Amino acid sequence: MKLTQFLKRYDTEQKCIDFFKTHREVQGICCLKCESKSLRWISTIRSWTCNKCSYRLGLRKGTVMENSKLPYRIWLSVLYFMVLTKKGFSATEMQALLGHNRYEPIWLMMHKIRIQMGERDKRYQLDGFVELDEAFFAGHRKKGVDDTGKPFKEIDRNEKVLVAVSTTDTHSRFLKMTVVKSLSKKDVAYEAPKILQKSATVMTDGRRCYSPLKDIAKEHQVKIIKDKKLVCEAFPWVHIAISNAKKKIKGIHHHVKNEYMQNYLDEYAYKYNRRFFKHLIFDRLIIAATTIAWFNMV
Ligand SMILES: [Zn+2]
Repeated sequence: MKLTQFLKRYDTEQKCIDFFKTHREVQGICCLKCESKSLRWISTIRSWTCNKCSYRLGLRKGTVMENSKLPYRIWLSVLYFMVLTKKGFSATEMQALLGHNRYEPIWLMMHKIRIQMGERDKRYQLDGFVELDEAFFAGHRKKGVDDTGKPFKEIDRNEKVLVAVSTTDTHSRFLKMTVVKSLSKKDVAYEAPKILQKSATVMTDGRRCYSPLKDIAKEHQVKIIKDKKLVCEAFPWVHIAISNAKKKIKGIHHHVKNEYMQNYLDEYAYKYNRRFFKHLIFDRLIIAATTIAWFNMV
């Protein structure tokens, strides 16, 4: 949907409420107490009421908007803007676009949406031929305790990320980026089944931490590259993904706190995996955002 169409179609709070209501009903609503599908809409309280047990299901209940007091129009706009461009926006830019007077609620809602993007992609594992490599994404921590237990005020620390791209002979298909505690055999063995299907053929470099993959994927191919300059040629798609993700995250968000790195990677991967959807990506994000998913962030 073009920006002009969007602004014209959803120019009032009521139109946005109707939009979310219709979307939830199309997906199918159900009483969270007795699981009955017979509910009636009561517009004055923006809730459905169960015809069997009188349970009230609020319009925001269970969705990405739960616990938020921000208007539906703001939510719909943020969902729209987050997938409007390939690059995306920082919370500061989004706040300016919306003309909202507070930064924190916009920042929080964007992270909730990123988490939901990640949850959506967790449903799928990569199949076919998969390039897998590790990457180090620059993160920033303001206060805390370092790996040796010493307290610090500010530190730049790289996050270790497993990056996997399923490919064909001519192009890349799907991407997964997962922050890991360490590049140990134990952590690779724990994360790899969430990344790969058992039927996948995975190719890595000669790092020892990848040895558990032989028991997780159908086939584990190892390509040992002694000349570091040739690594990008050996694993072309995964290195293009790493390079582009780093550029985008640094270019838009500058200093990313380590604890939120996975969320930014989830946004990048979600958009990468739906890069051919064009305008349909907005519809898909709405489905993800209005699907029942409980949040415990606030
Ligand atoms: Zn009920």
